[in-house]
Amino acid sequence: MESVFYSPTRIIFGEGSLKRVGEEAKKFGKKVLIVTGKSSTKKSGSLDDLVNSLASHNLQVEVFNKVEPDPSVETVEEGAKVAKKCAVDVVIGLGGGSSMDVAKGIALLMTNKGKITDYFGTDKVKEPAVPIIAIPTTAGTGSEVTKYAVVTDRKKMLKQIIGSSHISPRLAILDPLLTLSMPASLTANTGADALSHAIEGYVSTQANPVGDILALKSIALISEALPQAISQPNNLEVREKMLFASMLAGMVISSAGAGIIHGMGYFITLHYDAPHGLANGLLMPEVMEFNLVANPAKYKNIAEAMGKKIEGLSEMEAARLSVVAMRELLQKIGIPKGMKEIGVKEESLAGFAKTVSRNERLLTLNPRRPTRKEIEEIYRKSM
Ligand code: NDP
Ligand code: MN
Repeated sequence: MESVFYSPTRIIFGEGSLKRVGEEAKKFGKKVLIVTGKSSTKKSGSLDDLVNSLASHNLQVEVFNKVEPDPSVETVEEGAKVAKKCAVDVVIGLGGGSSMDVAKGIALLMTNKGKITDYFGTDKVKEPAVPIIAIPTTAGTGSEVTKYAVVTDRKKMLKQIIGSSHISPRLAILDPLLTLSMPASLTANTGADALSHAIEGYVSTQANPVGDILALKSIALISEALPQAISQPNNLEVREKMLFASMLAGMVISSAGAGIIHGMGYFITLHYDAPHGLANGLLMPEVMEFNLVANPAKYKNIAEAMGKKIEGLSEMEAARLSVVAMRELLQKIGIPKGMKEIGVKEESLAGFAKTVSRNERLLTLNPRRPTRKEIEEIYRKSM
């Protein structure tokens, strides 16, 4: 069968690499918009470091620092107004997935007419966005190397995806120093998100041999480094492994896409304010349990990558160990046992299942096609 892998982003990786941004941004133009969140990058000093690096190369800098977690349509539109008013040549996203995704949305509106809502879906973007530089401060979304921007449509209560190679960042700067300031819960949630990308991309119906190699490497790295990142938050080597693994996982989903961990998780975020990675973490074991019959060979490899001994076991027994390994890992990093613990109510589950089952986009790449009833069952078992 034909398969596709595409990963166009130039990557600069390493401790202190944030300093490189001035000389790199200069190649794209004179006027720069920095897109970032409300407080963390100011507090950590990374925003100042970024501004200083740009200023020292005589670039004109404008800052849009209003990005909220799970950013809205309105935030992208507001940022786009600022960008257009200043006629910026390059947009830099500094922060977690939320800031990088808003940067992508703004950059595409610089060269494409209309509203951000016009571009929800796959390959709707006509013209390449202005150059985007993505600088992650979480080790989770991999957005710095993906062709996606996730924007929340509060009117429709949906997390919408813009998927287009026209919004892949031209450059990703991955500096593990920027992730040191993450508190334990953010480290855990975003790490679980990265792991969900590696797993969902690996078993996706659009999986490909290049992505598969990256996915297994990413799963192995995260299984080892994520618990260490919680217990030794200042260990830079461990932070570096997590940042590298989340980037690999981003490359995986950028070509292979994600499955129902994401499709189902969105509604836990939308209705219960659960951070994206936490929602995924809560659903991951039961989705894996449901999916593994569709591709036991791959789930066997996941179990092995997560450190399980599989010699002498049947393929199915080995595959099941991936779920065991996942539950153990999630417990180690402090993800709650079930959705009840974060306040999810039984009454909402049937409604969520109905919405997911009617949304083809959330289901097509999953290795096993669930019915509405099965989706509801997975939600219930994840309580
Ligand atoms: P967010 O970007 O939403 O950030 C979550 C919180 O963490 C914010 O309050 C932020 O503070 C804070 N924060 C970020 N970095 C640090 C740090 N180094 N130290 C301390 N606090 C920090 O989190 P995620 O990275 O998990 O991004 C989630 C979003 O990305 C979701 O909308 C999700 O759907 C999307 N996503 C996108 C993908 C893609 O390919 N485009 C893939 C997967 C998910 P502040 O706001 O003050 O900066
Ligand atoms: Mn995700």
